[in-house]
Amino acid sequence: MSLMLIDTLIKEGSKNMTNSTMKPLLFDIFHECLKTKARTAKMTLVHHPVDTPVFMPVGTQGTLKGVLPQQLESLDCQIILGNTYHLGIRPGLHVMQKAGGLHNFMNWKRALLTDSGGFQMVSLLELANITEEGVQFKSPYDNESDCMLTPEHSIEIQNIIGADIIMQLDDVVKTTITGPRVEEAMHRTYRWLDRCLQAHQRPNEQSIFPIVQGGLNPDLRSECAKQLIQRNVNGYAIGGLSGGESKDEFWRMVHLSTDILPKDKPRYLMGVGFAEDLVVCCALGIDMFDCVFPTRTARFGCALISTGQLNLKQLQYSKDIRPIDETCDCSTCKTYTRAYLHHIVTIETAACHLLSIHNVAFQLRLMKDIRQSIKEQKFPEFIQQFMLNLYPNKEYPTWIINALNAVNVTLL
Ligand SMILES: [Zn+2]
Repeated sequence: MSLMLIDTLIKEGSKNMTNSTMKPLLFDIFHECLKTKARTAKMTLVHHPVDTPVFMPVGTQGTLKGVLPQQLESLDCQIILGNTYHLGIRPGLHVMQKAGGLHNFMNWKRALLTDSGGFQMVSLLELANITEEGVQFKSPYDNESDCMLTPEHSIEIQNIIGADIIMQLDDVVKTTITGPRVEEAMHRTYRWLDRCLQAHQRPNEQSIFPIVQGGLNPDLRSECAKQLIQRNVNGYAIGGLSGGESKDEFWRMVHLSTDILPKDKPRYLMGVGFAEDLVVCCALGIDMFDCVFPTRTARFGCALISTGQLNLKQLQYSKDIRPIDETCDCSTCKTYTRAYLHHIVTIETAACHLLSIHNVAFQLRLMKDIRQSIKEQKFPEFIQQFMLNLYPNKEYPTWIINALNAVNVTLL
């Protein structure tokens, strides 16, 4: 069947989704690793199917910095993430509505996920104040008028943006905070989830994912996950991690959460994207990841490779006529040398573009290799080789050893 025909069928399928029995997300598990909690699946969304485990590049302003939608398609990227906070403020909801949603606005035909806007607000705005009603903040334009992001408003914005997966507004607490505030945030997160589900206007086209909170407290995390699985939703996210906590606390919270979340639904670990974290967390049963890291580090002149990163600003690359990675088949590696990239990095925007292409290609290829190894029941061996490439002296970080031991993998 031609790709165009498949595309047409998917579009026709989406038109038929008025039937209330149609689900906007189907999750078919194909392979399960016999040792770890890793699995491969096809997540069928209204705009495009997604092979999992998947890494989702982040497009903050309705574009991935330095990469065009067509280029993402040619890298075989199936889903990207858009930031609600940024899109809701600029271009604003009227423009988004007129354009018929973000897919049309940015000319991206494949799957999209949007966050709730809450996290961006709390992390970007010093003046954000959380009340039971919602997140109160000063307008970033005049810094005087009061604005309020409620669960209902977050869903209204996300309904207009029209992403395939949308996130509940959650009460985000920094991992450095402990005590009763963490518990309060957890309870408020369920209350806000129920308000989000109630406000949702497009349940046949978009799936709301609840977010497991609970800080670094195992009891609160478990309780939160157990509360959330009582709601009828199509997938779950794990939030509030990757914010400066120790790696040992990080993996334990992920492991504990995936033990509770239902096996037959996708599990999304928010804000995680370092290669070693992706490998470990796939083993812990995560299916979806997002992170600004690959494109952000590209802007600083760093290229991702299997042994870590190349900082192309360094003088040692000025006469190096090899590509970034000889085994990479991205357009940057096929065309340009390290010496050329050294010549232009952090000076010319073209360099940011070329490195972003490579870094996104690197992440997508890593996930493809993970999926392939799970399919062949070789994921434990894949992990061993991956970690050996990264740590040739076998000086593995303790958290990686511990996390992998928890899922029956011993490093070489
Ligand atoms: Zn490349």
